[in-house]
Amino acid sequence: MSDSRPMARRGLGTRVIHGVAAERPSAVSTPIVHSVTFSFGSLAEMQEAQKRGAAGAFYQRVGHPTLHACEKRLADIEETESALLFSSGMAALTSLFLALVRSGEHIVALAQCYGGTLEALQWGADHLGWSLDLVDAREPRSWAATMHRGKTKLFHIESPTNPTLCVLDIGEAARLAHAHGALLSVDNTVPSPIGQHALRLGADLVMYSATKSIGGHSDLLAGAVLGSSSALESIWQVRSIFGAVPDPAVAWLIERSLKTMAIRVERANSNAQELAQRLSGHAEVTRVYYPGLERHPGHETARRQMSLGFGPLLSFEVRGGDPASEAIVDGLRLIRHAASLGGVETLVALPAHTSHRHLSLEERRRAGIPAGLVRISAGIEDVEDLWSDLEQALALVGAERR
Ligand SMILES: *Cc1c(COP(=O)(O)O)cnc(C)c1O
Repeated sequence: MSDSRPMARRGLGTRVIHGVAAERPSAVSTPIVHSVTFSFGSLAEMQEAQKRGAAGAFYQRVGHPTLHACEKRLADIEETESALLFSSGMAALTSLFLALVRSGEHIVALAQCYGGTLEALQWGADHLGWSLDLVDAREPRSWAATMHRGKTKLFHIESPTNPTLCVLDIGEAARLAHAHGALLSVDNTVPSPIGQHALRLGADLVMYSATKSIGGHSDLLAGAVLGSSSALESIWQVRSIFGAVPDPAVAWLIERSLKTMAIRVERANSNAQELAQRLSGHAEVTRVYYPGLERHPGHETARRQMSLGFGPLLSFEVRGGDPASEAIVDGLRLIRHAASLGGVETLVALPAHTSHRHLSLEERRRAGIPAGLVRISAGIEDVEDLWSDLEQALALVGAERR
């Protein structure tokens, strides 16, 4: 017997696996269609496919069946009309900026945004002539003064931010953007599509580095933008012009990874919560940044906005500043030292040497990145093994200090 409940009312853990109702009989795993071009029985049929825009398939750069299968699955998870996949998170972001903002127009973004985002926005200001204001995620009352009706087209935010886990009220950011005639875009990479529904909270567009929790295995590079079909039309046009489209093998791998996203994210989030709590009680740790901790200033907002926990990312400060944080990273045996986040393996990174390496100590302090900050992206290992590894590395620096 078939379950006749509408797909949209089934749980997310089911929808990541089954997507929208499949035709029967059909392949259980989506076929990889490796063709670059598609033939038609008549000119009229070809024109029909061309007219379908982002949903059509007549040439791979414009869109292809394996890509569409994955985009449909993503849009269903996000409960929105459309999704567009890109060959990296940066390709997704830059396509969004290029499509929505013209020379002479204005963008407001967070000073705490991902480093690559800030670089892209500054590059656009220098080369393409849009103007840019960066606001502090911790000072929401200061945001309105930077927005100008008729000029500001886009407010671009992240929540929680990386690496200091500031939590923003997405609904409040949306109301502010809309009051000034601008759109709100949210980089929802850190919480993942399972952990936060930015569109439901008021965003016009949501984007992901699919390299992180969507791919989840540190083995593919991709990005995504989601929203209404009309909002995505101009972004699709930019993707077709610049050509940053995942090929069929990558599109298939993204869809394959989506099926385990719910359980991966749930487990990683619960590991992050446990590590944050245990680190909070450790003598060598002076401060822990994690929205799942009750005393985190954004805890109540995060509770309202996030689901299945508070994300895989946490940071902490250690006694002894930068030298101690460097010794910890060198002392870890199981937790790997690498950039990136949202994978099945727990990774550690020092923001001072990755995302914020071009800044002086003083500039880092102003950007809210304290000396000795260690960032962890929790994976899905047994949490006791992760904790033992952290404990032994913290003991090493403790012994050295004494
Ligand atoms: C990694 C990341 C990006 C960039 O994505 P790529 O897939 O590396 O191009 C953008 N935003 C955030 C928050 C990220 O973590």
